[in-house]
Amino acid sequence: MDSSVHITAGYTFFAIDEERLPTLQKELLAFGRLHDLCGLTLLATEGINGTVCGTAEAIAAWKEYLIEHFGPIVFKDSAAQSPVFRRWSVKIKPEIVAIKRDTVKPDRRRNHLTPQEWEKMLQEHDVTIVDARNHFEIALGKFRGAIDPEIRSFSEFPDYVRRSGIAKDKKILLYCTGGIRCEKAVIAMEQQGYTNVFQLEGGILAYLEQYPEGTFEGECFVFDRRTAVDRNLRPSKVYGICPHCGDPGTVQIACAVCEQATIICSDCHGNACRRACSKNCAHIGKRP
Ligand SMILES: [Zn+2]
Ligand SMILES: [Zn+2]
Repeated sequence: MDSSVHITAGYTFFAIDEERLPTLQKELLAFGRLHDLCGLTLLATEGINGTVCGTAEAIAAWKEYLIEHFGPIVFKDSAAQSPVFRRWSVKIKPEIVAIKRDTVKPDRRRNHLTPQEWEKMLQEHDVTIVDARNHFEIALGKFRGAIDPEIRSFSEFPDYVRRSGIAKDKKILLYCTGGIRCEKAVIAMEQQGYTNVFQLEGGILAYLEQYPEGTFEGECFVFDRRTAVDRNLRPSKVYGICPHCGDPGTVQIACAVCEQATIICSDCHGNACRRACSKNCAHIGKRP
């Protein structure tokens, strides 16, 4: 496969003065334009989090730049044949991953497991595996035996923990896509009295780099044009974002109006008006 587009995801919690954020935003925007990067990077007083794509040289320069400014970062790499983002944006947000709880502030490393350590701990019989992602992501794939908290947004995670009924001393293995949600999910659990919670460093993406044949089953949802990556970190051939409702879908159709091949979701496929490649074609199709 010709994989000329390189993709990297990384974050770090690093205290940044609020007044410095706009300057940093400008610098990062300029850096991205100079190197022809595409992607989305979030900046907050708690740190930086982004997924970007570009040439091999541009991605190497980006990593070097981030490490120079923010210290060590675990990067998760993959590749694709075409850009997975349309634009380059750097946004200032209240949090780099939104749990919406002021008391949940990552300040040090907490019980991180490398993919190797994680793999070993999965073999223990008395562990509870909890997926910290949203229900729609988990629907595409998860670790064998993992619990789906059935949340629609990460800010619901602390409430899930409260009603989960999991014993407080149970050994818990937490994971998410790239590790960032777990940094806060661990704290949310510890604040509710859990004493034995571990997190997968670098998330599913770091795990799959080393264990494509491991116990992660299905595909891993990603927040870009790939929709998901398979166990070899290649762009999904199965999933697409439904143009009508924005959910991941698997139903391959030819647009009823323009005949373009498209993937839509099964719910929208149930609606004859939506068997189209776009909202626009669906609109045209509805006309008498
Ligand atoms: Zn749909
Ligand atoms: Zn169409």
